[in-house]
Amino acid sequence: MKHGLATTKVHATPRPALLGKSAIVTGSTSGIGLAVARAFAAQGMNVLLNGLGNETEIKRTRIAIETEFGVGTAYSGADVSKADDISAMVEAAHKAFRKVDVLVNNAGIQHVEPIETFPVAKWDAIIAINLTAAFHTIRAVIPEMKKRKWGRIINVASAHALVASPFKSAYVASKHGILGLTKAVALETAEHGITVNAICPGYVLTPLVQKQIPETAKARGLSEEQVVRDVLLHAQPTHQFVTAEQIGALAVFLCGDSGAQITGAAIPIEGGWTAQ
Ligand code: NAD
Repeated sequence: MKHGLATTKVHATPRPALLGKSAIVTGSTSGIGLAVARAFAAQGMNVLLNGLGNETEIKRTRIAIETEFGVGTAYSGADVSKADDISAMVEAAHKAFRKVDVLVNNAGIQHVEPIETFPVAKWDAIIAINLTAAFHTIRAVIPEMKKRKWGRIINVASAHALVASPFKSAYVASKHGILGLTKAVALETAEHGITVNAICPGYVLTPLVQKQIPETAKARGLSEEQVVRDVLLHAQPTHQFVTAEQIGALAVFLCGDSGAQITGAAIPIEGGWTAQ
């Protein structure tokens, strides 16, 4: 002992606990999901990508991850609004990596319109993709996680899991719903080495947000510039967008040993939005 302090051994690699683990990240062909998948790969984790998109581009994304980080990748084109597709995706992950240690429910869609004209089909799709899909993926991976006494489930919710905005009825309902699902499953799995958390991002400039700028402009009678300045960035006291990479880093933290006692939590990463 020196200076009365116990010497603590510090591991050379950042999070050796994650090396060789395998993850499914839904909706990882774009935006936040892709950033989470890349952050996992940087830790030596194998990742199954999922999402819609151009086949050649998805192949290019996989090759980039494999060569940059030296990990394995797989891809499932499952439409997560379909329970059978989800079963096939989880099976594909087991086939590729023999196990699923980490599940990130990230695939999501948005539609902005007043409630009285909100299309019923949009409501159904948003609830199916943003909420019900997570029910199916979680129940498919939990039995094996319980057997191995280790698992991490991260639901990419939203600041809209904690507060509402007008003209986003289905989205806000789905995100409040996934927070409830997060808490219930966290309690069910707390003694099994499994953590279940919801990350609650503010605005990240992804295709999902880019698409809602003209929709919000129409619903609120504003210009697109006003939407960015007076609606999106106005919600966040920092007046800055969150980055997808910041969310990836948070997901990595939750998967590591330091995150082992965080479960059932809603973790805001939204520039102070919900502190107001
Ligand atoms: P994005 O549009 O860039 O990516 C969405 C991903 O989901 C894509 O890979 C897309 O192919 C996939 N997807 C959509 N429908 C699917 C389906 N039926 N089956 C399988 N995959 C499907 O959006 P993003 O901003 O990266 O959003 C990712 C998640 O983050 C969503 O759940 C969203 O609600 C949440 N979120 C985003 C923001 C933001 O500001 N961008 C803020 C808070 C929460």
